[in-house]
Amino acid sequence: MAQQSNIANQFGVDGIDVIPILKKDNKTYIILIKQFREPIRKWIIEFPSGYIDETDKSIEAAGIRELKEETGYTVTKVIRSTKKGQYLNPSVTSDLDAIMIVEIDGNAPINLNPKQSLDESEDVSEVIKIEYNKLLEFCDKIIEKGEIEVSTQVYTFALSSLF
Ligand SMILES: [Mg+2]
Repeated sequence: MAQQSNIANQFGVDGIDVIPILKKDNKTYIILIKQFREPIRKWIIEFPSGYIDETDKSIEAAGIRELKEETGYTVTKVIRSTKKGQYLNPSVTSDLDAIMIVEIDGNAPINLNPKQSLDESEDVSEVIKIEYNKLLEFCDKIIEKGEIEVSTQVYTFALSSLF
């Protein structure tokens, strides 16, 4: 049964996914979150993400806010962001998510001790910092173990490291 998105906001997208690239001590890391998702009744590793708030001034601002809430990290630079949404899973839902990739200066004082600030509805248990060149191996191990899941977005991004 197809599910119509019923979220209307000022930018015409439902949410924002953030790909956070953390640069620290000459190393490149990806920041992920482990979250419990009710529809699948499982824990899953995802990019930080969230719905747009009516107080958000732009899609980018929503992503920066969500990243801060879910991981505690402050964005240093927005590298790229889509202006409209991309369909998440168009065979079952019309949900549209924008995607942005951001850089975080992990040596900046503000990012030395990141702290989450979650609302009650959010079940983000853990912030995961993984070196980019170990991301695919990390995902494969989790999938092989089978206790928790890896989102399609994260796995697709990890596969790009093969090329
Ligand atoms: Mg979220």
